[in-house]
This record gives sequence, structure tokens and C-alpha cells, in this order.
Amino acid sequence: MPVFEVALSAELNHLTALRPQEPETEYEWAFQLECSQCREATEEVSFTTAHEEALPGSRGTAHFVMKCPFCANQFSASLVKNSVKAVDDTDRMTPIARFEWRGATPTAFVPRDRWVAQSTASATTFDAIPLSEKEFFEYDEEGGTDVSVSELRTEVTKV
Ligand SMILES: [Zn+2]
Repeated sequence: MPVFEVALSAELNHLTALRPQEPETEYEWAFQLECSQCREATEEVSFTTAHEEALPGSRGTAHFVMKCPFCANQFSASLVKNSVKAVDDTDRMTPIARFEWRGATPTAFVPRDRWVAQSTASATTFDAIPLSEKEFFEYDEEGGTDVSVSELRTEVTKV
């Protein structure tokens, strides 16, 4: 099954360990897709990995199942277990997760809300970071400093 890697880079100001919150249960993974059969682009889709769906016509399961709205080709996706990693570095493309995709090619990864990061100035953890807005600015009271996420970029590549 084709595996795709999602990578993210961001300018982290006094923050480290940026990652989706509850990636294996609650986090909403969102992608733009292209059908492998008819090549039509599909509207943004999203799914959590809290449950698995049965794949029609097979004994397998996936975290996400849908039919192409244009040609009815079946799409499915699953988060690869234990593949989620945090972004520690600043301004460098870092792999954050891997997904198995069948029937469709993910052309873009779209960050949604609910990310978490650790302050480098104190023991403060920031959660519910809304990366759908592409940037985040806060003040770390304990560390006495501004913290921010900016210059957000993502990419999806076939492994
Ligand atoms: Zn199609």
C-alpha cells in the first residue's frame, strides 16, 4: 500500500515539540486529494483515527473510507501506527506522520486546530494551538517571554 509522509516546517519562537494533540484519537487530520483513477481533485477531507471502518469488499479496515465523487473509485487511508513525531527544530522540514493511502493521492496536508507545544523558557505546555490560522502568538507568563509559531509550511511526499 502506498505510504505518504507529512512534513511540516515552522519558525518556532521559544517553543519546541510542536505536534498534533491526541494524534491517535481526537486530532482531525485533513488533506486535499486527487483520485488515482480519474485524476479529479476532491474537496478537503478530514478524519480522526479514533475508530476504524470496514473496507467494503475486503476484510481490511481503515481510518478513513470514501468514494470518489466523480468516478466512485474507493479511497481509504490509515495513520501508520507510531509514526507521529514532534517538530523540535525551527525552519526545517520535519516528518510528522505517515499515512497509507489507497485509491487517492494526498496533494496537500492542511493543519487544523488542536496542536500542542512546549515552552523552551519554562515548563509551560501550550495546547489547543489553532494551526488552521497558520500562526500562533502567546505569552509565556512563567518564562516571561513571547512565544510564537509562524512561517508555517507543509508538504506531503510519497515514501
Ligand atoms: Zn475518481
